[in-house]
Amino acid sequence: MIAILRKDAPDGAVDQLVSWIEKKGLDAHVSHGENETIIGLVGDTTKIDPFLLESMDIVERVQRVSEPFKKANRKFHPEDTVVDCGFGVKIGGGNFQVIAGPCSVEGDNLLEIARAVHAAGATMLRGGAYKPRTSPYAYQGMGERGLDLLLQAREELKMPIVTEVMDPRDVELFVEKGIDVMQIGARNAQNFNLLKEVGKTKTPVLLKRGIAGTVDELLMSAEYIMSEGNDNVILCERGIRTFETRTRNTFDLNAVPVLHYLTHLPVVADPSHATGYTRYVEPMALAATAAGADGLEIEVHNDPAHAWSDGAQALTPAMFADTMARIALVRDAVTGEGLE
Ligand code: PEP
Ligand code: MN
Repeated sequence: MIAILRKDAPDGAVDQLVSWIEKKGLDAHVSHGENETIIGLVGDTTKIDPFLLESMDIVERVQRVSEPFKKANRKFHPEDTVVDCGFGVKIGGGNFQVIAGPCSVEGDNLLEIARAVHAAGATMLRGGAYKPRTSPYAYQGMGERGLDLLLQAREELKMPIVTEVMDPRDVELFVEKGIDVMQIGARNAQNFNLLKEVGKTKTPVLLKRGIAGTVDELLMSAEYIMSEGNDNVILCERGIRTFETRTRNTFDLNAVPVLHYLTHLPVVADPSHATGYTRYVEPMALAATAAGADGLEIEVHNDPAHAWSDGAQALTPAMFADTMARIALVRDAVTGEGLE
């Protein structure tokens, strides 16, 4: 961290600042230039609040030199992390997976959808049993019964399941039931108590980007999980809120290569929530694949017009099968590997 001081900073005040920094256990290296004085702070800078430092009268500006995320940072862990989601399904480091299924678990149709996405080549099944809805009057999910339906489908198809946990008090239940991947939704991306709770488990976590969250905020949320001991974190770009209203969100595909540059964690993209409309899901699934995502999360429903949530963005099983064939072509074009 570097503090750039005001031109007129009196020597006495500079000395006081140096001893304030030193009392926090850091070294302060002062260099007097022709136009400005700079203090380099060396040591554990997490002990310093950069805003407090910048608010001091003699300080003009504070700049970070290193990122505040450490465990998620590629600088300290250059090789890609591969997350093992169970049933031999690995993601990251060249392993590409497609997570598909309905927005919400609704009942027996889950099995029908699960069989269809499995047959089309999806390697993980998704479905929400606990739903974060913008309105308290909208369908809230089946709860524990929904988890059991997912587990039944898993037993038949031998594929890992991905489902959202919304409440820190439910984490234990998810672990007891052996849920393969816990999803943290966009609305909970900065629910720090929830992040810490899933961090205390070893269950893989699919962490979605916040609705108006920056890439750095997503990485700090991952850091929360990892700092508690769970390194099995998969990041998910699912679109962010911008001024554009033609789509539900704006798919920030820049985030895919940017995240690969900054972190070793796998990066999945969700073209369903990113666009909000069935017609845009396939092209953006292909674009995300070409951009280097380690996987996709796609909503599929047997009868989108009657889906209990997010029918407007669901693919039918037939559309999904067609999309999968195209994803394989794009994956092959960019990696020479198809889907295997
Ligand atoms: C979902 O995956 O069903 C979901 C609610 O997504 P998001 O948290 O990205 O809105
Ligand atoms: Mn949804």
